[in-house]
Amino acid sequence: MSFLKPLARNSTHWSHVRSLATASTRPAKDCTRITPPYPKLVANLEKVKRVLDHRPMTLSEKILYSHLTEPEEVKPIRGQTYLKLSPDRVAMQDASAQMAILQFMLAGMPTTAVPSSIHCDHLIVGHKGADQDLVNSIENNKEIFNFLQSAAEKYGMAFWKPGSGIIHQIVLENYAAPGLLMLGTDSHTPNAGGLGAIAIGVGGADAVDAMANIPWELKAPEVIGIKLTGKLNGWTSPKDVILHLAGKLTVRGGTGHIIEYFGPGIDTLSCTGMGTICNMGAEVGATTSLFPFVNSMSSYLHATGRGPVAEAARQHAHFLKADEGAVYDKVIEINLSTLEPHINGPFTPDLATPLSKFADVVKKNGWKDEVKVGLIGSCTNSSYEDMDRVTSLAKQALEKGIKSKAGFFITPGSEQIRATIERDGQTAVLEKVGGVVLANACGPCIGQWTRDDLNDKEENAILTSFNRNFKNRNDGNAKTMNFLTSPELVTAMSLSGKLSFNPLTDPLVDASGEEFMLQPPYGDNLPKDGFIPGNLSYTPPDASQPNPSIEISVDPKSTRLQVLEPFGPGPEGEFTNLEVLLKVKGKCTTDHISAAGPWLKYKGHLENISHNTLNGALNADNDKVNVVSNVFTGEEGAIHEVGRDYQKRGKPWIVVTDHNYGEGSAREHAALQMRYLGCPMILARSFARIHQTNLKKQGVLPLTFADPADWERIHGGDVIESTVGVADLVAGRPGKNDTAEGGEITLVVRRANGEKFEIKALHTMSKDQIEWFKKGSALNAARG
Ligand code: SF4
Repeated sequence: MSFLKPLARNSTHWSHVRSLATASTRPAKDCTRITPPYPKLVANLEKVKRVLDHRPMTLSEKILYSHLTEPEEVKPIRGQTYLKLSPDRVAMQDASAQMAILQFMLAGMPTTAVPSSIHCDHLIVGHKGADQDLVNSIENNKEIFNFLQSAAEKYGMAFWKPGSGIIHQIVLENYAAPGLLMLGTDSHTPNAGGLGAIAIGVGGADAVDAMANIPWELKAPEVIGIKLTGKLNGWTSPKDVILHLAGKLTVRGGTGHIIEYFGPGIDTLSCTGMGTICNMGAEVGATTSLFPFVNSMSSYLHATGRGPVAEAARQHAHFLKADEGAVYDKVIEINLSTLEPHINGPFTPDLATPLSKFADVVKKNGWKDEVKVGLIGSCTNSSYEDMDRVTSLAKQALEKGIKSKAGFFITPGSEQIRATIERDGQTAVLEKVGGVVLANACGPCIGQWTRDDLNDKEENAILTSFNRNFKNRNDGNAKTMNFLTSPELVTAMSLSGKLSFNPLTDPLVDASGEEFMLQPPYGDNLPKDGFIPGNLSYTPPDASQPNPSIEISVDPKSTRLQVLEPFGPGPEGEFTNLEVLLKVKGKCTTDHISAAGPWLKYKGHLENISHNTLNGALNADNDKVNVVSNVFTGEEGAIHEVGRDYQKRGKPWIVVTDHNYGEGSAREHAALQMRYLGCPMILARSFARIHQTNLKKQGVLPLTFADPADWERIHGGDVIESTVGVADLVAGRPGKNDTAEGGEITLVVRRANGEKFEIKALHTMSKDQIEWFKKGSALNAARG
């Protein structure tokens, strides 16, 4: 089977479906497979209500608990109880889908238990523009795309081929629905919360659970309520809600929580604006973010051909909002009327600066007052509303005879958006002002960006409407300062070319040298003439059927795909003589553990991608990145090389890490690679939720310091001579000091000079997770 070449982007016209007289509506499609099973969910919830003595519930609780596999089995307590859930749907992007499917193949099932979709978006490199970039990327990745397409056909998954769009925008346009519970193998899956779904970013192994009909486990999250009042105005946009909130909560503040929005301000937001807010909730570590069912969701569902979903949701509107009197674990109020536009960064999404203060920050830091490139779009901000509003700014510039001073790139989130803004004229305006339209794919957001505008690794500033801005993320240059802001501000500041520009107070200069002020952006939420789908060949059938006769071939000589071998079982008793390979200092995201960019091409080849393991980690003992001492040879080497050497010597090793280890992307490779290279345990000050679960799924024991100050006492080169408590854990015996949330493990540490001391550590392993650990991985446990 060979992968189809893309059609020319303008080759298909929306000729057989016209917009209805009512603006922004579209004929309904068959919604049978995409409408949540509301009657069943409501019936389940009735059972849970009885268990909870009819106390009022938040919306997050109502949706989650209505998806319990056994609604009467447990009494859910937020922050404590492990829930066993039945998700309704799975979505996977091309980079993470490879490993998810390689794992699903090990399960030996004929089809997926729930509707699942694959989206080819991460492997497309942005460079010259959509048409050329797409052809080049398909050529360079055809082995992967062929593999994914053949797996989709074999197992009956929907396959969204390269050029169709970015996973979260496609999900919002096609699959998200109020009350849905879905899993996505990407950390910005919560985008679907803008349409009232609980959508959670997970690793491939969790997706395999849902696809294989294994109950999916989640500790009942606590709920942060965000009360929105007032109405956005002027230059402020939905993005500013989450930029502001990121500053308040920090990258760890949402961990273990669902962020649930409520209050009268919600009724003033568009559905896609709420999607933007939920999308970036991933940046504060939240399990997901969620809005209740409101009119703008209904309008969006109708506009995207899903009127029957809107009607079914209306009939169950009571289920799709928080109960009167529901109690949140914490409440933050945001007045939209007084909210300022924000700029967050560089290098972390929670470094939030209100626009009015940003010029001072630029000056204080001595940054060059130049915006080198502005990038708009991505899964976070490429709605029709976003594009229409930035176009209103571009038009003002063109009327005054000026163009963007900075490089300016536009990434449409989907073929539907691309085609619709081309028809409605926004694309022509944006191109005229200097914009280059990239493919409907991730591109510069995930390091798939070839820049021609920089001399070698020079310091420079870019502004993006994306969601994430860790160092190196966009272009692989650690000196690129990446700031997150709304598409409107990206556009205004790109027009000025200045990093200190504030469109509320600073004029631009027109072609004749006269100053003028940009007027605040404006635009339609939804296209008056309805959406058009563009190239119809991008849209897979609604109900893809499995075809068992399809062979999924993986070339044993491939450098990009490698069939997986199951991991061996975990320990039968205590661990002994674990080498401390490395102590990590500071931020260690999944980008630091398993970098993206050039490594994306090895996502389906565990051995090859493991060469990047922890290559961004800062060694606390020598202050060097990706350099550790090999205690057996006395030589320094890259972390993966030394880890591999220990493994060959039969010496299991661990790493000691700082706070929020594994924050950022959901990438499970960060867990798989550690296990593959021989690491059975990680000792951290704290973990990011998704990564902690990913480690457990792969048979790695995540432990946290009982006293975080003990991080100072242990170093690379030390040896965990023995553990006390692991034997009880695997034997299912209650250990000393066990609680409902986990238990205590004692580590006996030996220094090179013979000195010994003990460190108390904590685990959060549930009964099922202990089984994964014993069997060597969750998949081993599932296979029995
Ligand atoms: Fe793609 Fe960036 Fe969105 Fe991730 S955050 S799905 S890389 S556009």
